[in-house]
Amino acid sequence: MDSDTVRNDRGMKVKSATLTPGYWIYVCPCDFQYSVCRVDKTEGKWLVYCFKCKQSNGKYHKIMVERIEFSKNWNGKLNGDSFTTMRLHDPVKYCVGAVKQIYLKGIWKGNARIIDVKRIHLSDINLFVSKLDMGLSAEDCRQALRAMYKHRPVNWETQLIDLCLLEYLKESKEPGLFPCQEGEVRV
Ligand SMILES: [Zn+2]
Repeated sequence: MDSDTVRNDRGMKVKSATLTPGYWIYVCPCDFQYSVCRVDKTEGKWLVYCFKCKQSNGKYHKIMVERIEFSKNWNGKLNGDSFTTMRLHDPVKYCVGAVKQIYLKGIWKGNARIIDVKRIHLSDINLFVSKLDMGLSAEDCRQALRAMYKHRPVNWETQLIDLCLLEYLKESKEPGLFPCQEGEVRV
């Protein structure tokens, strides 16, 4: 990513970035949630600017179609059109618009797009979340999450969890159509 300073229409100095074709997510330190944007041809017109906090210290990250592994088909959720998953917070991995390859015990189930992400703490897991996501009580769901990440030094008091809502792409074998959504950073 190249970065440069340009002036916008009003003569205001704003940093801009040159992005190559593909899918990108703008991540701002203020944690405002942007959606994935699709870039068709290399252009240097992408603003490095956050509409929420008015700062220019965010960064664009290129995103690829990545695998998400499931060890168990909790609540049979992977058989439906939409499902949720809870993962340790990662604003590049778990952002609205990203497409994931869904694998259950190493077997591909299809490709799904993240259509919403709620950032929560372990203590925020309630019955609505736990039953739909895992078919468990809230406390059993919390225990299951602790067990999943037992080899990582996680402070569950402060650790953010990305509660992701995913939807399978109808043409699963041909991923790549990300709708550009309002609110994303572009000129
Ligand atoms: Zn910001």
